[in-house]
Amino acid sequence: MTLQAWWPLFACAAVVALGILALAWQRRSRTPAATALAVTVSGVAVWSAADAALYGTTAAVVRQAYPAVLMVGVGVVVAGVYGLSRTVADPSWQLSRRVAVSLAVEPLLLVLAAALPATRGLVLAVPESGTAAEVEFGPLFLAHSGYSYVLLAVAYLHLARRRRSAAGVFRRQLTVLLGTAVLSTVGNVVAVVLQGDGHGVDLTPLFFLLTGLVDCWAIFRLGLLQVVPVARDRVVDTVPDAVLVVDPEGRVLDLNPAAVRMLERTRPGVADGILGRFLQDVAGPEAVAVLGRAADRDGSRLAEVAPGVWLDVRTSPISDPRGRALGRIVVVRDVSEEQGRRLAVEALNRQLAEQLVEIERLRAALAEEAVRDPLTGLHNRRHLDRALDAALATAPDGTPVAVVLVDVDHFKTVNDRFGHAVGDRVLQSVAGVLTGAARPGDVVARYGGEEFLVLLPGAGRGEAAARAEEIRRRCAGLLDRDGAAVTVSAGVAATPDDGDDAAMLLAGADRALYAAKAAGRDRVVVSAGLGAPVG
Ligand code: GH3
Ligand code: MG
Ligand code: MG
Repeated sequence: MTLQAWWPLFACAAVVALGILALAWQRRSRTPAATALAVTVSGVAVWSAADAALYGTTAAVVRQAYPAVLMVGVGVVVAGVYGLSRTVADPSWQLSRRVAVSLAVEPLLLVLAAALPATRGLVLAVPESGTAAEVEFGPLFLAHSGYSYVLLAVAYLHLARRRRSAAGVFRRQLTVLLGTAVLSTVGNVVAVVLQGDGHGVDLTPLFFLLTGLVDCWAIFRLGLLQVVPVARDRVVDTVPDAVLVVDPEGRVLDLNPAAVRMLERTRPGVADGILGRFLQDVAGPEAVAVLGRAADRDGSRLAEVAPGVWLDVRTSPISDPRGRALGRIVVVRDVSEEQGRRLAVEALNRQLAEQLVEIERLRAALAEEAVRDPLTGLHNRRHLDRALDAALATAPDGTPVAVVLVDVDHFKTVNDRFGHAVGDRVLQSVAGVLTGAARPGDVVARYGGEEFLVLLPGAGRGEAAARAEEIRRRCAGLLDRDGAAVTVSAGVAATPDDGDDAAMLLAGADRALYAAKAAGRDRVVVSAGLGAPVG
């Protein structure tokens, strides 16, 4: 096969390289690797076009221009591959001005040497006329090749080092990139060696084109490089939250300095070589269990990993563009301070609620005390007045309300004979009889000194009289341990005969009581109604 027959292939290679260039350029904002890839394939395009022109024409101008154009292509490819390898190995890597200048000096000198007729032969010797297109390498070219191999070796070394610490899909991808990079370099070495005798065709751009295609596929189809640059972004590196990228098997793919600090706190000395290891190996099974539990808990993702140390854990799955799981991002935030404050507020709230309950209890007790008589424990007159009004107001039509006014007979004498304390005990005993005789719904009150009132809602005069008689009888049986015998008199009044308001009812009962006293005491008198009391 003559050299001339190769030109269409190189022309195609140049076109394909331009296609990849357009694709990579469009996506340069998605990953820094795309820019480096664009630079690489633009060099491949120049290199392939130069070869296509050399093999396809015999024009003298092409032969003269070829060495310089070729050296431009070669220089750009080497710089591109270097940048691509460094970017893939560390997405936060950026081409500094110093590195850019030192990378550019040597190729520019070579291009200059290849452009000047006087030094061109030191770079490449191309027959100026005729159909022969065999190229002979000059010493500068060979020196340049050596320099380029060293540069590429440095770049591949970075890739290989990154690959060692990578895991999962990312590791596989780096393997592919590294494999193709080495392949194209080996291809170049072989091409240079084969061409060394001035025969043979320069297949290197085709190898680099293949590399470009594979890189393109790896970067845009595998997609992981898009995830990793985002996770490695400076923002992630500076946020106070711990951010970890974990592959589906639980291996740590990436983590930020805050995550390293967090892991270092839980396990001192773990900071070295976290990448690629299983999370449970670096964080400890206990921490992983706590984090796992926290993530499962509904809504709240809080976990107390040590006394007073509260972590807020969030995990989100990550997948490649085809939906395959790549792992998950774990974001851990130390919320001990907020949690401490929240717990303190909750404790205060609880205390406040308890105090409110106590205040309510005291208020109820006070309210109860306000309506009780301290000596007998019975309701006092104030309560009775309210209860009587309420009973009259709520009594259904036709339902009577009765009152029984009870007064201890000759109580003054009890006090005089046995003393005030005995008198008090007698009052308590009478109160006990009244309470014992009461039924649900009745109200028993101490009405005044030795006077008591029993309110009987629903009872008519007859029933009230019978109940009063029962009270009188029970009281007559009371005998204080000091020998103070007691009797009581009672006056009974009821609606509607004695009127239908409280004052009329009480006046009726009072009149009846007065009659009972007048009739000799120790008896019950029912009010005669709205007229004179009957004895
Ligand atoms: P009568 O049969 O007419 O009702 O005669 P009485 O002596 O019971 O009536 P009087 O109204 O003359 O006396 C009531 C006495 O009750 C006078 C008062 O000192 C006494 N007394 C009032 N409250 C108390 C009390 O809380 N304790 C004691 N021990 N005595 C009281
Ligand atoms: Mg009395
Ligand atoms: Mg009295």
